[in-house]
Amino acid sequence: MLERGEVANSWRRERWPSLRLLTPNWLSRLPGHHYDGPEPDGYMTMAEVTEFIERFAKVSRAPVRTGTEVTRVRRIDDGYQVMTSNGEIRCRALVIASGACNRPTVPELAAAVPESVEQLTPFSYRDPAQLADGGVLVVGASATGVQLAAELRRSGRPVTISVGEQARMPRTYRGRDVLWWMVASGIWDQRYDEVDDLDRARRLPSPQLVGTPERTTLDLNVLTAMGVEPVGRLAAIRDGTALFSGGLRNVFALADLKLARLLTTFDEWADDEADAPERFAPTQVPASARLQLDLRRGEIRTIIWATGFRPDYGWLDVPVLDPKGRLRHDGGVVDSPGMYALGLPVLRRRKSTFIHGIEDDARDVTNHLAHHLDGMVE
Ligand SMILES: Cc1cc2nc3c(=O)[nH]c(=O)nc-3n(C[C@H](O)[C@H](O)[C@H](O)COP(=O)(O)OP(=O)(O)OC[C@H]3O[C@@H](n4cnc5c(N)ncnc54)[C@H](O)[C@@H]3O)c2cc1C
Repeated sequence: MLERGEVANSWRRERWPSLRLLTPNWLSRLPGHHYDGPEPDGYMTMAEVTEFIERFAKVSRAPVRTGTEVTRVRRIDDGYQVMTSNGEIRCRALVIASGACNRPTVPELAAAVPESVEQLTPFSYRDPAQLADGGVLVVGASATGVQLAAELRRSGRPVTISVGEQARMPRTYRGRDVLWWMVASGIWDQRYDEVDDLDRARRLPSPQLVGTPERTTLDLNVLTAMGVEPVGRLAAIRDGTALFSGGLRNVFALADLKLARLLTTFDEWADDEADAPERFAPTQVPASARLQLDLRRGEIRTIIWATGFRPDYGWLDVPVLDPKGRLRHDGGVVDSPGMYALGLPVLRRRKSTFIHGIEDDARDVTNHLAHHLDGMVE
């Protein structure tokens, strides 16, 4: 098991310090290892996640070789040649578990941002004190975008948030964490071969959720009440001016509709008339949303690209990527004999990229891998 950094590297190096998991502690479970502290409904800090994964590495006796970066993988006769920063390894089967979020995704239009505006990603963002005084434009309103917009607004800065497709969620529903409902109703267990539009399911934005001790909801209504200004999707930057699309009303209506459908699914599953379904106020549309913002005027000093993450396969010298750079695989069985993947969106189930999602996927994938090795032995 090769790891370029230390155990739990992504949680140590690639997250901002104030982040907490958006999944509650009771959902932090790995094969044979689960949270057993006093606050099952709490949300782990980064230090706690790191400790949790370190403990798992110890109890599972995972044979991790830390400080070993894979720099190239090539196909050889009966398997793969793996070049690493600590020498070469040959293997008959290989599991790519290098993560779905190795790089922040930044749109190409970032190149047109005037030099006077500093640009950050969730990888380079630390805290509000790091930013120049003045306004911030957060691009993206999924989990990362809404969390950073709230933190920056609390620091007293003017914050504008550019909103594209979003997955609105209340923190709690009918008295329980909304993720309890995702698990209990079976939504998160839905298999990849049962999902209607798998390609779309794999590209869905992360839910607008934050893990706080108070279990607060963090949606656009909350942000607007805090004084954050929502604008439409960032469509272009022309001559230093950011142009936003005007369909905010539709974007909000769609998010509200999807939320209502999700809650109806929960209610139908619960089928419990004793507890009345809860419904939430529609997302408030601003009287007039700005359609453009001159980035040269000094009003915006920093842009934060909260526009998602992607894997990095720069080291993979096997033709298994599609034209968009995504790994071609069927439920983690990659399109090259003996090569497997884990930890990618909806790999085998909707829960695949979450910590608790790995157990079922890993079991299925390693079963296939074992058969592959058996077949080679015969
Ligand atoms: C901002 C953010 C918040 C998240 N919040 C939650 C949450 O609240 N709850 C939840 O369940 N999930 C959350 N996730 C998803 C989370 O990433 C996964 O649950 C989990 O970390 C995936 O584990 P992984 O081992 O597949 O990938 P990673 O944690 O990314 O681990 C991959 C490892 O591979 C190593 N690696 C990469 N390339 C190489 C190479 N070439 N050679 C050697 N080693 C390499 C990396 O150093 C890294 O340690 C969040 C993700 C992000 C980005």
